[in-house]
Amino acid sequence: MGEFPERLAAVLDQRRKEGLYRHRLTLESSQGPIVCVNGRQYLNFCSNDYLGLAAHPRVVERFRSAAAQYGVGSGASHLVCGHSAPHHQLEEALAEFTGRARALLFSSGYMANAGILSSLLQRGDSVFEDRLNHASLLDGGLHSGARFQRFPHNDVSALEVKLESAQGPKMVVVDGVFSMDGDTAPLAALADLCTDHDAWLMVDDAHGFGVLGERGVGSTEAAGLAVSCVPVLMATLGKALGTAGAFVAGSELLIEGLIQQSRNYIYTTALPPAVAAASLEALSLVREEPWRREHLAQLIMRFRVGAQQLGLPLMTSTSAIQPLLIGDAALAVDLSNRLGEEGFLIGAIRPPTVPTGTSRLRITLSAAHSEEQVDQLLEQLAACWPVN
Ligand SMILES: *Cc1c(COP(=O)(O)O)cnc(C)c1O
Repeated sequence: MGEFPERLAAVLDQRRKEGLYRHRLTLESSQGPIVCVNGRQYLNFCSNDYLGLAAHPRVVERFRSAAAQYGVGSGASHLVCGHSAPHHQLEEALAEFTGRARALLFSSGYMANAGILSSLLQRGDSVFEDRLNHASLLDGGLHSGARFQRFPHNDVSALEVKLESAQGPKMVVVDGVFSMDGDTAPLAALADLCTDHDAWLMVDDAHGFGVLGERGVGSTEAAGLAVSCVPVLMATLGKALGTAGAFVAGSELLIEGLIQQSRNYIYTTALPPAVAAASLEALSLVREEPWRREHLAQLIMRFRVGAQQLGLPLMTSTSAIQPLLIGDAALAVDLSNRLGEEGFLIGAIRPPTVPTGTSRLRITLSAAHSEEQVDQLLEQLAACWPVN
């Protein structure tokens, strides 16, 4: 067969055997509480559109009018001639919203994380990451050249021991809200620890931005952290904001440093200007409509109380990510399929995304859901349990 085809075939075989083979759904509708797949409607409980903005009429209209004015493609990278007025306005709005001096857009969260870590870190430095950090942070840390160390999930004391014996400049990197578990990092304790050990703290707030805190600024606002405690704040625009892309916010020095040397920033085409314009509109909705956060918080409570009464295997999350821990990968997939047959879209998350033996149904709630839809989900889950 040849070396490469053989290797690929072996991987596919292995994945099939272990119940880890992945398939994609093809959506025939916009994001929302109800989506269409293969001509059938499903109640959607697996999207990260936490505030229901991905298909909001105001966001769509702003996208349309910006596309009419600026066209579709950005035409070049930011440093050539791809940086347009909507990009610039969005950066200024994000800096103001997060209380930072500057913000810088990246084309995706994955690229932002890899780009930030590889530009800030070098040989001789030490980087410490929670072992449940998003893959983009782990990959970025691993490839940064710095001494890379994972610490047990949310274990501040274990991190302290590692920091005490660390050499060189130190950076601690965590998710604000962990993407597959839904729990939050102990940011206040981490910030104190970083201050004591002269380490820089970077927070990836992909799942907190827009959702957490009084104004929706995210995990750092919810934890009451001063700006100076988190010198590197990163978040994505593809989740609560419902658009695409990502940004990092921080000091003038951080942002200019990244513009000058982040290869992931420099050598890629800028996001379409219309996506930046749509993101500005979504940010306005985050500011103007706190009811979205309040309604989402109520749905989360409703789901947790109901699931507890049913004895479902809830995890410790209080966020919009409410996984049910199943354990076995094949069983998780089987459950996801059964729920699918009943018209509920819920993803089974398996290794290598989560540790072996911790496969789960990753249920996500959105401000676009109604209480009735959450009740329907609970009824359907009740019909599936106990599982076997
Ligand atoms: C989704 C996600 C990313 C990646 O962002 P994209 O814009 O989708 O590339 C990074 N970090 C976390 C924690 C995420 O959940």
